[in-house]
Amino acid sequence: MHFDPSIDIQDNLIFGEFGGVNPSITDSATFTFMSPEIMEELFDHEIEGCFLYSRHWNPINKYLSGALAKMEHSEAGIVTSSGMSAISCTILQLCKMGDEIICSRTIYGGTYALFKNFLPKFGLKVTFVNPLDLIEIENAITDKTKVIYVESISNPLLEIADIPALGKIARTHNIKLVVDNTFSPLIISPMLLGADIVVHSLTKFINGTADTVAGCICADKDFICQLTDINSGASMLLGPVLDNYHAASILKNLHSLHIRIKKHSQNALYFAQQFERLGFDVFYPGLESHPQYELMQELANEGFGNGGMVAVDMKDRDQAQHLMKKMQEEKVGYFAVSLGYFKTLFSAPSHSTSSEIPEEEQAKMGLGCGLIRFSVGLDNDIKLSFSRVEKSLKELNMLDVVTT
Ligand code: PLP
Repeated sequence: MHFDPSIDIQDNLIFGEFGGVNPSITDSATFTFMSPEIMEELFDHEIEGCFLYSRHWNPINKYLSGALAKMEHSEAGIVTSSGMSAISCTILQLCKMGDEIICSRTIYGGTYALFKNFLPKFGLKVTFVNPLDLIEIENAITDKTKVIYVESISNPLLEIADIPALGKIARTHNIKLVVDNTFSPLIISPMLLGADIVVHSLTKFINGTADTVAGCICADKDFICQLTDINSGASMLLGPVLDNYHAASILKNLHSLHIRIKKHSQNALYFAQQFERLGFDVFYPGLESHPQYELMQELANEGFGNGGMVAVDMKDRDQAQHLMKKMQEEKVGYFAVSLGYFKTLFSAPSHSTSSEIPEEEQAKMGLGCGLIRFSVGLDNDIKLSFSRVEKSLKELNMLDVVTT
C-alpha cells in the first residue's frame, strides 16, 4: 500500500472557539436551545453543529471521533469510554436475539469472554474459528450469521488476518466484517482493505500514555447514526460516553501517533531479531520466520513497520515469571498488562490477559503458558534495553537452556 495515513490527520486542522490551537474542552453535560422547534428537530435527527446532551454527542468527542475516522478512512466515527464498550456496542447494534457471530479464536481475552460467556445470555450464538482458515470460516456461515469478527494483528499471538479475503467472504454472504485494529493503528487500514467496521481500544497505542481507558468505532455514517439514535442506538442507550477531558488529551496525543508507531516498530523489530538470534521462538510479523510475513508486508502501509508487539515463548511458566520479575528489576520496563505505552510493558497472556480463554482452547490456538508478550517502548537506546534483557536471561541461566 502506498500512502501515508498520517497526512489525513494533519489535514484535520481544528481551531478552538477563540482561535486556540487545540479545541476547547467541552465543560457541559447539556446544551441550551434558542427555539423549541430546533430542540424537537434534534430529537428526531442530528443537526450539524448542534448539540443536545453529552451522552449523545458533545463537541470535543465529535472532534476526536472525526480525527479517528480520518485516520481509519471511514465516513464517520464515535468514541466510547473503553475498547470493550466499542466492541459490545458494535455487536449489540448489529445483532438481535437468534443471530450468529463468527469470531476468531485468537483474540484479546476480554473480547473472548464477552463473546463466549456474555453474549449467549442474550440469545446470540458465537462460533469460534481459526482466523487463518478461510474454509473453516466460510463453512461456519449460516443464514443467521451477521458478523465476522477478527483482530487485524491478533492478541497475543500476532497472527495476521487476511482482511481482503475475509471482506470478500463477508460481502458475498451479506455479513459485516468487524476488525479490531488496536495493535496496528496507521500500520493497517482495514476499511481500505474490505472491513465494514473498525474498533479500537484507544487505551493503547493511540493514546500512548497509559493514563486513560477509551475506545472508538469507525464505520459509515449510517451505522454511526444508528449507534447514536435516541430510540434505538447502543451507544446512546447503553451510555458508554467518553469523558471530555480524556477525549481532549487523546486528541492531542493522536497527532504524534505516526512518529510513535514508527519508533515502536523499529524497537520491536530489534527485540524480535535479538530474541531470535538467541534461539528463542519469536512471534513478530516483521520477521521472515513469521508464517504470515508476506501477507503482513502486503497489507501494511509503507513506513510504519510491523508494530510494537512481540511475543517470545519461554516454554515454561515459572521461567517466564522469573524473567519478567528480573527484567523489571533490571529496568527493561514494567511487568504490567496493557500495551502501547511509551515504556516497555511485558506480561504472560496465558495467565493474565488471555486467562479468560480455557486451557484447552489456549493449546489449540498455540498459546503456551511460558509465552511473554512485550509491548516495546519508545526507548532511545534500544541496544542498551536489550542488553538488560540479555543480562536477565544470563543471570537466570535461561540462555544455556536455549542454546543447548
Ligand atoms: N481489543 C484489544 C486487542 C485489546 O488488547 C484490548 C485490551 O487489552 C481491548 C480490545 C479492550 O480495550 P479496553 O481495555 O480499552 O476496554
